[in-house]
Amino acid sequence: MNARLAALIRPEIRALTAYHVPESNGLIKLDAMENPYTWPESLQAAWLDSLRGLELNRYPDPQGRALQAALREAMAIPDDMGVLLGNGSDELIQLLALAVAAPGRKILSVDPGFVMYRMIGLFAAMDYIGVPLQAEDFSINLPAMLEAIEREQPTLIYLAYPNNPTGNRFDADDLVRIIEAAPGLVIVDEAYAPFTDASFMGLVGDWDNLLVMRTVSKMGLAGLRLGYLVGPADWLAEIDKVRLPYNINVLTQVSATFALQHKAVFDEQTQAIRAERTRLQDALNQIAGLHPYPSEANFILTRVPTGQAGALFAGLKQAGILIKNLDGAHPLLTDCLRLTVGMPEENAALVRALTALLVAPD
Ligand code: PMP
Repeated sequence: MNARLAALIRPEIRALTAYHVPESNGLIKLDAMENPYTWPESLQAAWLDSLRGLELNRYPDPQGRALQAALREAMAIPDDMGVLLGNGSDELIQLLALAVAAPGRKILSVDPGFVMYRMIGLFAAMDYIGVPLQAEDFSINLPAMLEAIEREQPTLIYLAYPNNPTGNRFDADDLVRIIEAAPGLVIVDEAYAPFTDASFMGLVGDWDNLLVMRTVSKMGLAGLRLGYLVGPADWLAEIDKVRLPYNINVLTQVSATFALQHKAVFDEQTQAIRAERTRLQDALNQIAGLHPYPSEANFILTRVPTGQAGALFAGLKQAGILIKNLDGAHPLLTDCLRLTVGMPEENAALVRALTALLVAPD
């Protein structure tokens, strides 16, 4: 191995593999929790009109003021709270870590949870503590959580609400107990907000250490890369200092502002996805050997017969369907697959393929 590289790149970085996105060309894409619907043609035309005359020779508005105003309007952000924009909520997770990282500082979350909390902790040389969820239903083990908070004194606590990859939404009272026990910041990550009726957005400001993080990715704008963090303005002003000046590009600012002004279109799509989630859940429940877990997100985690996750993943791919195999990702996810809710015909194809594979394994 290149000696200089081995000496310079931190061992924990060398041990990583770069974030891998599987090739999905020609496949029904049910692996990444995207909204499967594109825009109606009339909206596409109006959007293109809104881009006309943009001055791409100029840097974008560093604060994204028009976009912030559109978000405030569309997303019921409390007037007295601050908003910070990120290049996806992934960037916001990173900005938070950058603002607080110091030797011995810790990030705490639940396991299995969203992998970027751990990854970004590692990038920022922070320690990561994952408190296991309860095996039966992936709920929070509150005594274990409170004990870990007391022992580890984490600077940041991330909780996805609903959780990825399990799809369930944690008990709101558990989150309140955690917020009240935390010595540092608690970030409630509401990436899947379009698919649940519960939210902490209306509660920011009730505790000085609560921030709510959202993204437009799951509502149907994953390609724009836009996340937003909501909380007390004094916290956000500090985190804003580690943000690169022009992190939200001109096209994203204009396109997201336009999209938010037509939010009803996206609401209709996410409602359709919610209805499909129920239908898919029912269909999966009918397939012998599958044990789907309840979901308040746009995906369903399902347990499959022992040892068959890999074969089912491969069989589905053969049938033209890409999903996520989580077997081996965490002990609580053994024999688990994660299925993004797609369009009705995509879900029907998934159910047909799973039925065929489970009835007639080769
Ligand atoms: N939080 C959670 C819980 C997620 O599942 C994801 C994406 N899978 C993100 C944040 C990141 O979303 P984005 O960077 O697209 O805003």
